[in-house]
Amino acid sequence: MDRTSAGFDQLTRFWLESAPARGVVARLDESLIRALRDHDYPSAVRSVLRQLAGAAILLASNLKQPATIVLQAQGDGDVPLFCVEATRALTFRAYANVREGARITDSATLPAMLDRGGNGRFILTIDPDVGQMYQGIVALEYDTVAENLQSYLSNSQQTNTRVWLREDGEALEACLLERMPERDSEDDAKAWERAVASLGTTFAQPFMPFPYREWLNFTFAAEDVRVHPAQPVQFACPCSMDRVLNALKLVGADELMPLAEENGAIDTRCEFCGQAYSVDRTTLAALFAEQTANAAPSTRTLQ
Ligand SMILES: [Zn+2]
Repeated sequence: MDRTSAGFDQLTRFWLESAPARGVVARLDESLIRALRDHDYPSAVRSVLRQLAGAAILLASNLKQPATIVLQAQGDGDVPLFCVEATRALTFRAYANVREGARITDSATLPAMLDRGGNGRFILTIDPDVGQMYQGIVALEYDTVAENLQSYLSNSQQTNTRVWLREDGEALEACLLERMPERDSEDDAKAWERAVASLGTTFAQPFMPFPYREWLNFTFAAEDVRVHPAQPVQFACPCSMDRVLNALKLVGADELMPLAEENGAIDTRCEFCGQAYSVDRTTLAALFAEQTANAAPSTRTLQ
């Protein structure tokens, strides 16, 4: 069995005929190692980024139109920002800001790293390729990404949603189960609880390298489970010189031109993948000349 057919770096959507539940399960493995490879983050920071990546991929698989999900945890502690982006095509990228000199222990929790005063925020943004951006912000109430996301989804969507995120070395398994609200009889309520318990049991055990069809049949042995074809999950960073130039436009000529005059160029690095970009003085001057001619700056700020 090769790694892909064994469920590595892939996502499967499923639903139960015998219970009012549908869900999605994913494993991020080499994609996650690649996403964090060029970063020198403390172990606890890597752990949170893995969990956020799993959460973002679960959410991205539910998008109805081409869009990017941005999951952020923000505060003013040792790690003021964790950020993961995932697309409907199931690509993702991740980074964190870690304050210089911060001493972060391996057992540091998300709230402790984010904000010792308990003022951390959890922000979910849906940025469609076409159309209006949507953003939801909630206080960070729980220690784990799974609990915070579960609480956010259950409140914002008014449907009962459960989330499991489990690290397995440098890999991560993620699962989301959503209750179908139109089925609300007493039997349906019992069947939902049964399905939640079944997933809880499987997630309490070590990873089993099964294709997800087998994994789901094993997990829901008492149910009639239907499985969609698996889709690959990949690391990808869409950063480009064009995006860098757009970002520099927003910073503005007043701030950048003196630096460019002094150093000959503006050197910047993609926070997600580490790719270096250098914009020389002449290119920068032409960029701002063009901007002055065209007036309105771009509103898209991400690299
Ligand atoms: Zn990049």
